[in-house]
Amino acid sequence: MSSSSEDESMSEMEEQENQNKEMKHENGVLDYIMSLESVPTNLPPHLELLMTRVLCNNDAPQHTDTIQYSGAYAALGVDNSLRLDNFNQNFKVEVKRLTDDDIEFDMIGIDPSLANAFRRILISEVPTMAIERVYIANNTSLIQDEVLSHRLGLIPISADPRLFEYPDNAGDNRNEKNTIVFKLHVACHKGQPRMTVRSDQLKWLPNGSELIAEDAKLSASSKPKTFTSFTCSQESIPEISSNPIGPKYLDIILAKLGPGQEIELEAHAVKGVGRTHAKWSPVSTAWYRMLPEVVLLENIEDDLAVKLQEKCPVGLFDIEDIGEGKKRATVARPRDCTLCKECIREGKEWEDRISLRRVKDHFIFTIESTGALPPEVLFTEAVKILEDKCERVITEFS
Ligand code: SF4
Repeated sequence: MSSSSEDESMSEMEEQENQNKEMKHENGVLDYIMSLESVPTNLPPHLELLMTRVLCNNDAPQHTDTIQYSGAYAALGVDNSLRLDNFNQNFKVEVKRLTDDDIEFDMIGIDPSLANAFRRILISEVPTMAIERVYIANNTSLIQDEVLSHRLGLIPISADPRLFEYPDNAGDNRNEKNTIVFKLHVACHKGQPRMTVRSDQLKWLPNGSELIAEDAKLSASSKPKTFTSFTCSQESIPEISSNPIGPKYLDIILAKLGPGQEIELEAHAVKGVGRTHAKWSPVSTAWYRMLPEVVLLENIEDDLAVKLQEKCPVGLFDIEDIGEGKKRATVARPRDCTLCKECIREGKEWEDRISLRRVKDHFIFTIESTGALPPEVLFTEAVKILEDKCERVITEFS
């Protein structure tokens, strides 16, 4: 074979190889570009810092935005697109504290918009049971009917809302599946000292209302009509019989009665959500903060180290002995930083020594339950609600 025909066949092979390479990446041009050796895969450190951290300077925080545009760093060869596989790989939840009433956990690898979605769903969309209708048969106390009803509405009810249905709009069909009935009948008899009425005096009526509806009093029916129509006792529902229903806290003051005063009423609780009224919100608060990061930009030693330690009100800095009678400040508990900025307040020299930052995709989430559901269950319910919303959007678009 002549040298020119050899050259031709070589160039054909190279062309074929390039074509194969392109075909291999035909589903992802970006993947192909990223596979080239000359393309860097990491951002330079200063851009990496701005992308992943909020810088909390003395005057104002900087770089608070999250860069979601997929082509933001394309010119630098870095793929910034939102990918499910990346999310699956990086997303983590670490529980730091769990009690009956509250939970603190870290959500790592998540966008602020999603963290905020969970917070908002927790406050206003996870349902609970709360007292909605109050039938007052007698109230001779000083507290007005509407004020008393409002106080009753705010009592957290210990009942799993997942076992109940939402009431119909008219609220006429009240049965064992959508209504919980409580009765309160207290009297301070003449000659007795003043008495305090507390939430423990609310008695659950598993068989439904006992008050006769006014329009039914005159009916000739053998069984007088009440305000509910239960077909069975709520105690016969296994999940309820194992966890009897009642106020979560038994010492909430409802009213004070003087001698000769009396309250007799029935309170009906139904399922609802916090965006209708705060009484249905399952959390006293749900909040998050980004993970603090405190970085010493230079060694802070001896008297300055002691001064820095004294400045921090939460005792975040420790002092270590580095020999020859010298001491150096170290960051011991960065998670405790409240961002009070005391450590950088005394002038530019301190700002040059210490950098206060927040990690943009690491959230310290705290949920305080009002008591209807355990805090960890509240979060899983919020996840289910967000999932349902996403499915609805997908269904609408498909
Ligand atoms: S900002 Fe406040 S809490 Fe945080 S390290 Fe500085 S002094 Fe301590």
